[in-house]
Amino acid sequence: MPGRRILILGGTAEARVLANLLPRHGYEPVSSLAGVTANPNRPTGQLRIGGFGGAGGLANYCRDSGIAAIIDATHPFAAQISRHAFEAAQATGLPIARLERPGWTEAPGDCWLRVPDIAAAVRAIPENARVLLTIGRKEAGAFFGRADISGIARMIEPPLRQAPSTWTLRLARPPFLLRDELELMRSGSIDWLVCKDAGGESTRDKLEAARALRVSVIMISRPSKPKVPTACTPEDIFHLIRYFRIT
Ligand code: NAP
Repeated sequence: MPGRRILILGGTAEARVLANLLPRHGYEPVSSLAGVTANPNRPTGQLRIGGFGGAGGLANYCRDSGIAAIIDATHPFAAQISRHAFEAAQATGLPIARLERPGWTEAPGDCWLRVPDIAAAVRAIPENARVLLTIGRKEAGAFFGRADISGIARMIEPPLRQAPSTWTLRLARPPFLLRDELELMRSGSIDWLVCKDAGGESTRDKLEAARALRVSVIMISRPSKPKVPTACTPEDIFHLIRYFRIT
């Protein structure tokens, strides 16, 4: 289906949903994953895995593979690939849109401290705090360097830096349910939750649990990304694709 092939930069549940929807609208999805997770859930259609070798490599891939448009459906915290996607779109003249779920917002009873990045989150944790750390495997090591804090570090795959013995490592894949989040925080004597403003439903219940147990939250804000047309849901992306005039 030359000319109607759409590259989805993935790594999110929304990217998989979009790959399932595209064929119904007459488009051919080509999904791309970074290759950081073993046994990822496979989307519908063609799948390629691994980096492109920067923005230039991504632009070449699009030219060589007959890509007609790029949808950046990567995680809100995956800043580098979004920058590369924007640069590759500029270099090739291809249309680009982003699929990005909205961030979370505070509700009455919440006690959130918003910080700009990982380093600020590490600094913001009070001395001797018991922490539930849910920021993924890549940056967990920055928290393990604080000898006075301890707690539970939850992630899908083991961290790049080994956790000290004062931390309990919990390998688990979302979704996480409220009753389990309550039990985890209670049994771990957690008084601080550290998380990224990832948005979405599958990891939201930890925020409900924190509210119920009066656990304080350090919420790491999203990195800034290039400004491109953005939709919040896979369904809404089709409003943008219509303007792309892909034949
Ligand atoms: P990143 O820092 O923005 O990207 C690092 C490099 O990984 C990119 O330069 C690119 O390599 C490669 N890459 C990233 N996403 C790719 C994709 N979809 N297809 C092909 N190559 C990709 O990304 P990250 O934060 O490490 O995240 C990696 C992946 O995990 C992303 O796809 C993201 O959607 C997913 N994810 C990230 C988080 C998070 O918190 N960061 C959470 C959940 C899922 P080249 O320069 O060689 O092309």
